[in-house]
Amino acid sequence: MDWDAIRRKYTEDADSIDKARKIHAAVTERVRRLQIPLADTPLSPRGVIAALPYDLLAETLSEVWAELMGGEPGVDLEKALRAFAADEPFPEEQHAAAEVLSMLLRPAVTGYLTLLREKNEGLQEAETGSGSCPFCGTYPRMAFDSETSRELACLLCGKQWRFQRIGCPFCGNADHETLGYFDVEGVEGVRVQYCSECKHYLKVFDTRKRAIRDAETEDVLSLDLDTAAQEEGYL
Ligand SMILES: [Zn+2]
Ligand SMILES: [Zn+2]
Repeated sequence: MDWDAIRRKYTEDADSIDKARKIHAAVTERVRRLQIPLADTPLSPRGVIAALPYDLLAETLSEVWAELMGGEPGVDLEKALRAFAADEPFPEEQHAAAEVLSMLLRPAVTGYLTLLREKNEGLQEAETGSGSCPFCGTYPRMAFDSETSRELACLLCGKQWRFQRIGCPFCGNADHETLGYFDVEGVEGVRVQYCSECKHYLKVFDTRKRAIRDAETEDVLSLDLDTAAQEEGYL
């Protein structure tokens, strides 16, 4: 993560960015110490999220909480981790802690899944040009275009894979009449691709026009596009 770039872009949020940075470092450091299993058969994308060691990750996060925030989190971290990994909203009783929770949960799930993917790289099923992540099954939010090809990026496990240049990863629609683009002033080299068939959107980064840092950082630097797409009614 390029935290300095994020801080330069969102100067008014410096305090919460610094807090997120500290939490991210502490969580990442602890997740690296966990035992990452080596599977003996190919992992199926469906099974990867289901088999996350939620109890272990929750324990790790409560240690970070005690160290940085002091005391007990007062929320069920295991339940929150499950909701986050399944891309579901936080349980209602946890809304008050939502900001700190999202700072904690993302590096735990992403850090663990990235290590698991790297360790089991040889055991993954062949990439099929699928719209969802070939490793963890999550739908991508971002794509990187080069001169001749497009790669989708999974924000949950860090996987990137080739995909057709004209197409919606969510529903498979490849009709240019119902796929479109728009951009947002002030964010260079990124466009929103929207699909009128399924109403989903994707942020497409042009690697010829923009110096790409890493997917997580680019995602944060382009939040204005998410806001614009959601205001237009896209999911
Ligand atoms: Zn993934
Ligand atoms: Zn679609």
